[in-house]
Amino acid sequence: MAANDDAYLKKLCDQRPWPPHRALWQMAYTNYRSHKGNPWHVARTNFIPDVSKQQTDLYESRSSSQWFVKIRRMQLKSCPMCGSSVTGTVDHYLPKEDFPEFSVMAANLVPACSHCNSGKKGRTFRGVTPNERFLHPYFDTLAGKPLWLTRIIPPYEAAQFKAAPLPGLSANNSELVNFHLRHVLGTQFDRNAENLWATYPQYLRDEVGGSAPVSPAARARKEVASSLRTSISTSGANSWNASFFRGLLEDDGARKYLARAARTLTATPLPL
Ligand SMILES: [Zn+2]
Repeated sequence: MAANDDAYLKKLCDQRPWPPHRALWQMAYTNYRSHKGNPWHVARTNFIPDVSKQQTDLYESRSSSQWFVKIRRMQLKSCPMCGSSVTGTVDHYLPKEDFPEFSVMAANLVPACSHCNSGKKGRTFRGVTPNERFLHPYFDTLAGKPLWLTRIIPPYEAAQFKAAPLPGLSANNSELVNFHLRHVLGTQFDRNAENLWATYPQYLRDEVGGSAPVSPAARARKEVASSLRTSISTSGANSWNASFFRGLLEDDGARKYLARAARTLTATPLPL
């Protein structure tokens, strides 16, 4: 990616008005990579004369080029920023309005979903302490590991859902993940969790099948563990669904409530 970025910049800087800015711009790229895009270490570069508007506009004028289409079409199990099942758009890790020099740098263009792109993240790129920033899907090695779960907040009849960092992360990583979750998850995340919560009793009923009672605890736990495995393999370790079942697996009370609810249902008849 670095070689491609530099080659693209070199080509771009053959055209007006960019030739005089090439050296400084290349330095900004190198600096971005050496600090892994971290907004607490990458400072905005001021070009003289000011070309920030032209740099920001480069993104729009080139967004249909092969270069960007490739990022949008990356094969992903879920959105690498928020974990939703939607993919197909591109987000600027450092917003192009604040860092126009990175508006067409591939390392700064992360695949994301429409929720992320239109959501509450907006132009936020960091918080108030050095651990408060977004996870960078390309540079944070942490991003490949399970990082969070969904806590189910009683009363279960009107359960609410709260995303939380996995217990066991270091204090620094926990702060990072917490900031990330607070700024990428919107109402669609809640709707998804509500939907899983509402439909899971029927799933439990159907998996147990026939007229056998849904035995408490043990059977429900096994089914939840299996749903978690399936979610991880089909949607990824930090997908909304994996986070939901990870939370449910840790929550005896919530699981028992769902198993009780399943007992009152009849199995969905198999289609003929
Ligand atoms: Zn997203």
